[in-house]
Amino acid sequence: MQIPDLDLQQPRSLKEAWTSLEGDASFDWMGGGTDLLCNYKWGINVPQKVISLRQTVELQGGAGTLAAGRTLYEIQQDPILQKDFPALSYAASVIASPLIRRTATLGGNLLLDTRCWHFNQTLEWRRAHGSCLKAEADVCRVLPYPGNLCVAAYSGDMAPVLLAYGANFVLAGPSGERTVPASNFYAEDGIRRYEDKTQEEILLRAELPKEAGNWTVAYQKLRLRKTFDFPEGGVAAAVLWKDGKVVQARLATTAYASVPCLYPEISASLEGGELTEVHIEAAAEALFLAVRPMKNTSMSPAYRKKMARVLCRRALKACTSDY
Ligand SMILES: Cc1cc2nc3c(=O)[nH]c(=O)nc-3n(C[C@H](O)[C@H](O)[C@H](O)COP(=O)(O)OP(=O)(O)OC[C@H]3O[C@@H](n4cnc5c(N)ncnc54)[C@H](O)[C@@H]3O)c2cc1C
Repeated sequence: MQIPDLDLQQPRSLKEAWTSLEGDASFDWMGGGTDLLCNYKWGINVPQKVISLRQTVELQGGAGTLAAGRTLYEIQQDPILQKDFPALSYAASVIASPLIRRTATLGGNLLLDTRCWHFNQTLEWRRAHGSCLKAEADVCRVLPYPGNLCVAAYSGDMAPVLLAYGANFVLAGPSGERTVPASNFYAEDGIRRYEDKTQEEILLRAELPKEAGNWTVAYQKLRLRKTFDFPEGGVAAAVLWKDGKVVQARLATTAYASVPCLYPEISASLEGGELTEVHIEAAAEALFLAVRPMKNTSMSPAYRKKMARVLCRRALKACTSDY
């Protein structure tokens, strides 16, 4: 499997990046290319032009920042993030493999394409199998009825943790910068369209609210092997404590839908009192009932659903060690 011939551009600034588009609609921004290049080898969504953002200065950031161009290894090793936002460093540390983390960027992780058993396959596999709605065919193989809705799973590990911290995303387009709440960014659509991003826009960084450091956040991930594998389910829990009581809570998941999800009603049920075993079990049960995994990853939907309860329980218990 070879990477097809592509026109590669390596702009050093945002201005150069947009100039290099030259009105071309068939292009991809590229961070580390750890997802995109695999897809190209498999004949998935190959554009005419690839614009690497690795040397684009506006995407680089120093210690403590969540600049889109920082590698996951940098996020994992950053002493400021480890101290103030340990769940972020932890989530970065359980992504893929050490080699991939040294190349993969935060921006690429947050904008990771959705995944499906019927889609992330070689061209030959897809041809033999009949392909799917997200690729060459016009019907979804996971949900053939009605078949016109793609249910590929969003499987990034950083987004649920950033949602739990209440993050915003800063985007830049030719007409300027704007800030979008991470909770409004993703659209529930496996064909990977965003609620709030145009094709030309570039993700510059994630930003956390000032008070984010006061929250206790924990992330739990389900995967086949303890390295290398995408999440089959992931739960982030966040709690803001005051005098041993929960002032505010957030629960977020990944890999259970085409978007990373927040669960405001379940979170609200945890607020206002102590976080006892009874509260934790009730929230874990509610999350178990809420998630709807599809038959589009390696593990069975039934097991992934069951594990949502376990991941939620573990993440909330991890938050109690701080109050
Ligand atoms: C074997 C293997 C295992 C993996 N395991 C995991 C895992 O466990 N968890 C996980 O979350 N991921 C996993 N990944 C996926 C991937 O490696 C990571 O998500 C990585 O962080 C993607 O970053 P990247 O910079 O390489 O993205 P790229 O491949 O460069 O880009 C991904 C997407 O983001 C867009 N993009 C990138 N940067 C920007 C930007 N600044 N602005 C606008 N668009 C942008 C690209 O156009 C593309 O659509 C795995 C990949 C492999 C190959």
